[in-house]
Amino acid sequence: IERDAVFRKKYNIHVSGANVPSPLRTFAELSSRFGCESYLLRNLAEHGYKEPTPIQRQAIPVLLSDRECFACAPTGSGKTLAFLCPMLMKLRCASKDGIRAVILCPTRELATQTTRECKKLAKGNKFQIKLMKKELVRSTDLSKFSCDILISTPLRLRLAIRRKKIDLSRVEYLVLDEADKLFEVGNLLKHIDPVVKACSNPSIVRSLFSATLPDFVEELARSIMHDAVRVIVGRKNT
Ligand code: ADP
Ligand code: MG
Repeated sequence: IERDAVFRKKYNIHVSGANVPSPLRTFAELSSRFGCESYLLRNLAEHGYKEPTPIQRQAIPVLLSDRECFACAPTGSGKTLAFLCPMLMKLRCASKDGIRAVILCPTRELATQTTRECKKLAKGNKFQIKLMKKELVRSTDLSKFSCDILISTPLRLRLAIRRKKIDLSRVEYLVLDEADKLFEVGNLLKHIDPVVKACSNPSIVRSLFSATLPDFVEELARSIMHDAVRVIVGRKNT
């Protein structure tokens, strides 16, 4: 535990919460500690990712331990992989069991980018990874729609819930990415609550990622998570 504290200090990782799992020293620990499958390690190597970034070092083991995570680290610090990697590991393999994971991104561009990243990282596995497009919202049988990972803006998913009764009751992982932009791009906060409510699985693991920590992000985190491990990389008050 003392070793963990020294290690965190070295990488400027600040944590709070009970029983925070040890940070990741190397990507190889994904397999030695958490039984990561070879396809994922292969894809990480193919990307040229040699070692985890500070936010990845701490957020990945938190999420792999089924803990809620409130993570803040600067833009460009690798937050996408910090939630995609544990999500793919937890889902293990493709299944037709409804919608299993949801990632909310504030803009369509970010959602598209995250979808691309997710597909690259999942290469060699048979996961169904879907971007919530207009056509999909309009499709007639949305109530029977199923995929492993669904990526959407809050607005589009909210429309799907409202109009077509998309079934989110089996979602096991919900990620709110770039939470500090939810306000900037128009008030998207009002669309978050209906989505969080629709994801009604009692054992859902929620997480929130942000580059900065304005008050509304703190409030949002408090309102959707209850026992989250807080991981902050960089200066404590930014
Ligand atoms: P953020 O969401 O924190 O702004 P991104 O997840 O978009 O950052 O990542 C920024 C860049 O860093 C991307 O080009 C990504 O491919 C790269 N990256 C992510 N993780 C690593 C890593 N462990 N090693 C090297 N590059 C990485
Ligand atoms: Mg990001």
